[in-house]
Amino acid sequence: MKHFEANSPYARDIGAVVHPHTNLRVHLEKGPEIFTRGRGLFVYDEEGREFFDAAAGLWCASLGFGNERLARVAYDAMKNLGYYQIFRGASNGAAIELSERLLALAPCPMSKVLLQCSGSEANDTAVKLVWYFWNALDKPEKRKIISRKGSYHGSTTIDVCLTGKPEFHAGFGLPFPGFLHTDMPYYYRHHVDGESEEEFSQRLADNLERLILEEGPETIAAFWADPVVGGAGAVLPPKGYFEKVQAVLRKYDILFVADEVICGFGRTGNMWGSQTFSITPDIITCAKALSAAMQPISAVLINERIFEGMKIQSDRNGRFVHGYTYAGHPVAAAVALETLKIYDETDMIGHVKAMEPIFLGGLAALNDHPLVGDVAGCGLIAGIEVVADKKTREMFPASVGLPAKLEANALKHDLILRHVGNRLAFSPALIITEAEIHDLVGRVKASLDDTLAELG
Ligand code: PMP
Repeated sequence: MKHFEANSPYARDIGAVVHPHTNLRVHLEKGPEIFTRGRGLFVYDEEGREFFDAAAGLWCASLGFGNERLARVAYDAMKNLGYYQIFRGASNGAAIELSERLLALAPCPMSKVLLQCSGSEANDTAVKLVWYFWNALDKPEKRKIISRKGSYHGSTTIDVCLTGKPEFHAGFGLPFPGFLHTDMPYYYRHHVDGESEEEFSQRLADNLERLILEEGPETIAAFWADPVVGGAGAVLPPKGYFEKVQAVLRKYDILFVADEVICGFGRTGNMWGSQTFSITPDIITCAKALSAAMQPISAVLINERIFEGMKIQSDRNGRFVHGYTYAGHPVAAAVALETLKIYDETDMIGHVKAMEPIFLGGLAALNDHPLVGDVAGCGLIAGIEVVADKKTREMFPASVGLPAKLEANALKHDLILRHVGNRLAFSPALIITEAEIHDLVGRVKASLDDTLAELG
C-alpha cells in the first residue's frame, strides 16, 4: 500500500527525486518502490514484503544485499583515514594493494591500474587513454572508435557515444562524430536461415573489416566490447566470434578494450569474460562486482604498451593530466580488496561453475514455454528472449507492452525481473544456492504462465 499523503516517503520522493531510466511523468502519478533492507538475494519494502531480485540490483550485488563483513571493513577504513587523494604521487595502502591484486588476477599481462569510481568513469577514462596513446605515437588521426549496436557502456557523454542504442542518443544530440557501431553478435535474432554460428561470426568479422577499410584503418583507434552484451539483454557471442574479430583488429593495429563491468569477477564462470571467450584485451574496464556493489569503485587495467605511450605523452604535457577526486578512495579500495578476499576464500568461481548447469538447465527447461524463443547464458548470466511466434521468431508489437506485463506479473510472485528490449536478463547474486535457483525458475515460469493467460 502506498501512502501519498503529504510527508509520506512516497510524496517526498515525487517532490524531490529524479530517477534514472524512469518516465518522469508516470513517476509523478505512480510514485517509487521504496526498499528498506536486504539480505542475501532478497530485498524488503517498507511493509516487510520480500522480493527475490533476479538481477542483483543492476548486475552488481554479487554477494547479495547487506554485508556485515564489508561494513566492518568500511567502518575501519573510514575511521582510520577516511579519505585522501592519490594526485601528485600521493598514495594509500588499500589503493596499492588493490591495484597489485587486480594485476595478479588479470586475464593477460597487464602493467598498471587506474582506480575510478564507476563503470562509466572507467570507460570514459579508457577512451581518453586510447586517444592519449595514439597521440603519443604521433598518430593523432587514429581516433575513431568502433563499438557494437545494442551495447551499453555507461552514461557520461563519451560513454553514450560508445553505447550502440539509439534511445540513449535521442534527445541529447549524440553520438559525436567518430564513434562507429558495428553489428551486435546476436545469432538467434540476426542469423539467416541455414547460417551456422561460425558462418554468422565470419560475416560479422567481414562487415567489421569492411567498415574499417571504408573509414581508413589509419583512423581507427580502438574496438570496444563487453564479452556478453548486457545492453542487449545478455547476448552471448556466437562460436568463433571474438577469435575472428581479434584477427581483423590485429591486422590493422586496432586496440581491443574489454568492458568487463558486468562480466568481471566470476559472472561468466571465470574471473573474467575475456577468459571465457578467449579475448586478449589491451585495456580492461571493470566495476560492479569489484566491490560487490557495496562501494562505488571501478578500475582500468592497461598493458605495458599503453603505459609506454602514456609516459611519452606525460613527458610532453609535464604530467598525466587526468584524475578524479575520489580515484583510489581508501574506503572503496578497502571494501573492494575484502570482496576479492571473500571470492578467494569461498572459491566463488568454483561455486559459479557448480551452479552453472543448474541455473542454465533450469532456465533452458522454459524453452518449451509458448512465449520463450531463446534461452542462452553462461556462468550465472543469462537472457530469455520473449516472442510472439516461436517458429518465425516474430516479436510482439510494442503496443502489447509485453516485457512490462511480464515484469508486473513477476512482482505478483515477489520476483524482481529485469527486461532489456524483448529479453529478460538474469544475473542473480553469485552466492545463489541450488534451492534458490529452483525457486527463481519456478517464479519465472509462473510469471510467464500468468502473462500467457493475460494475453489469451
Ligand atoms: N559498461 C557496462 C557493460 C555496463 O553494464 C554498465 C552499467 N550497467 C556500465 C558500463 C556503466 O557502469 P556504471 O553504471 O557503474 O557507471
